[in-house]
Amino acid sequence: MIDLHLHLDGSLTPEIVTKLAKLQGITLPSCDYEELREFLCVSKDCESLNDYLKCFDLPLSLLQEKEAITLCVKLLFEHLYSLGYQYCEIRFAPQLHKKHGLSQKEVVEAALSGREEFKKQHSKSNFDAKFILCMMRGSDNQKENFETIEMAREFLGKGVVALDLAGAEGLFPTKNYEVEFKTAREYEIPFTIHAGEADGAESVRIAIEFGAKRIGHGIRAMENEEVMKLLKEKAIPLELCPTSNLQTKAVSSWKEYPLKKFLDYGIMVTINSDNLMVSDTNVAKELKLVQNEFSLSVEEMNILKENSKNSVF
Ligand SMILES: [Zn+2]
Repeated sequence: MIDLHLHLDGSLTPEIVTKLAKLQGITLPSCDYEELREFLCVSKDCESLNDYLKCFDLPLSLLQEKEAITLCVKLLFEHLYSLGYQYCEIRFAPQLHKKHGLSQKEVVEAALSGREEFKKQHSKSNFDAKFILCMMRGSDNQKENFETIEMAREFLGKGVVALDLAGAEGLFPTKNYEVEFKTAREYEIPFTIHAGEADGAESVRIAIEFGAKRIGHGIRAMENEEVMKLLKEKAIPLELCPTSNLQTKAVSSWKEYPLKKFLDYGIMVTINSDNLMVSDTNVAKELKLVQNEFSLSVEEMNILKENSKNSVF
């Protein structure tokens, strides 16, 4: 089982959250795991990506210290391993972990330490995960984004594999980030871009133009045949996250969900979780869901799994 699109801060179980709070002497809104889930999982009345992003407030507040980030990464690795994962690309935005004064470098180093600790304690396990560093969409954080690019450059091949751009796509369009991705290309840092989730097919087209090696979601490429053609011809994988895409209303229903359309068209689709906790899912669950919803054949299921293997950074 491989997950190419999984956010660190959206994947903290109530158990992990409780351990992080205890480590730091922080009082949580509840000690009860079931009640905590209500703060960590998206509610049924989620209306948009902006609503969805609110579920990250509590986990992020617990990830502002080095020790907490290291412990969190180690515990998440253990959780993924216990779920039967073989490989995962975990993403996070270093600039969101600076509220207590950490530098982006300290944040990345703390995450890498958590990975090392897991590896030391599970030297015989065949599970591994690497990191994708996210830049954030926003109005006044270009300096922070450039620092993230520098971090990716410094730690590329040392546990970091790529860059990404995350955040409110509907408010801050992909086209605004041309210089950031020009720099990433010059540094030869591979990148994926969240595109075609809250914004339309044009956002995907621009991401391809910028040189994205993969597209985060890319679901709304279905609105434009030209963009679908580009994805196919360039064999750019889409990191689909079905449950999340339905929750954020990127797609209104399973009936509208373009998985079969993309598969039949010859686009390289992969199935991912987005957020283990916020969406209360994992890749095994997502694969089962799409298999049932679309009555996929064994061959089609194998294509999805092979695509993930062939799309790792
Ligand atoms: Zn995402």
